[in-house]
Amino acid sequence: MNLPISIDDVEAAAARLAGVAVRTPVLTSEAADAMAGARVFFKCENLQRIGAFKFRGAFNALSRFNEAARRTGVITYSSGNHAQAIALAARLLDMPALIVMPADAPSIKIAATRSHGAKIVFYDRYTEDREALGSRLAAERQMTLIPPYDHSDVMAGQGTAALELIDDVGPLDALFVCVGGGGLISGCAVAAAARSPGCRVIGVEPQAGDDVRQSLARGERVRIAVPQTLADGAQTQSPGELTFAVMRALVAEVVTVDDAALIGTMRWMAEQLKLVVEPTGCLAAAAALTPRPELAGQRIGVVLSGGNVDLARFATLVGTQS
Ligand SMILES: *Cc1c(COP(=O)(O)O)cnc(C)c1O
Repeated sequence: MNLPISIDDVEAAAARLAGVAVRTPVLTSEAADAMAGARVFFKCENLQRIGAFKFRGAFNALSRFNEAARRTGVITYSSGNHAQAIALAARLLDMPALIVMPADAPSIKIAATRSHGAKIVFYDRYTEDREALGSRLAAERQMTLIPPYDHSDVMAGQGTAALELIDDVGPLDALFVCVGGGGLISGCAVAAAARSPGCRVIGVEPQAGDDVRQSLARGERVRIAVPQTLADGAQTQSPGELTFAVMRALVAEVVTVDDAALIGTMRWMAEQLKLVVEPTGCLAAAAALTPRPELAGQRIGVVLSGGNVDLARFATLVGTQS
């Protein structure tokens, strides 16, 4: 099988990230075990630098730049966690960073990106194409474009989350991972296949946007309308080309979760684990905490992918039902 990344790439990423990324804790809870009817291990990437796993892929990718590329710097398009991850990684590696963001991005995200020293170029999300703009600016300024998921160094970096989880707790029977463009799950699936052969890797998408589930069913990448969901980190319209190749080979199945379940899980995480997890970060947990007969009594890993949610919004969401 010739996949875009191998376990060697994930291990090399882990070596680059050692001492730079947080080796995030793994939490267990009797309440979670009782609910799932299984033994559940939560990998807390909400406690990663910048509040999400994206730091792993960004730092790994930027670490591999040669001298000339470091001087001209990195460019990316994103309004979310990838922007902050690239901005921080660039600062740590002392290179310029340019982030292409929609003009109407939340001010908190603009401020967070700026605080790491990145420059921002705004575009109009209704009339301009961010990928085209990113490519044009990259060419003009000779900057290296690092996309949010469809890049082998990004995927390998994200896979270090599962590598650490399995190295810390031992082999797993199943691993639940949320899916946007598929960078996180493809890296994690490669790590799981090598470290815990037979582990069933289960992708979780928002119910409103199951582009990966549809693509796997069809055997080719499908494109859907922008999904309307609270899970803003998984509002992708189509899987990546490289990530799709890995997902086809290594992901056992993809399930979906609706927004009401995400809100319930956010509240549960706050109440039971004392954790703030953003809606997208709750996708995998929402699916894993729903009991399945075939996983009864088994060992289940769950990646909590991030915790970046405006606190006023968090309070409103978790306060809406009880
Ligand atoms: C980016 C992101 C995702 C989706 O990751 P992909 O690699 O695009 O699948 C999930 N959760 C959070 C918190 C994210 O920032």
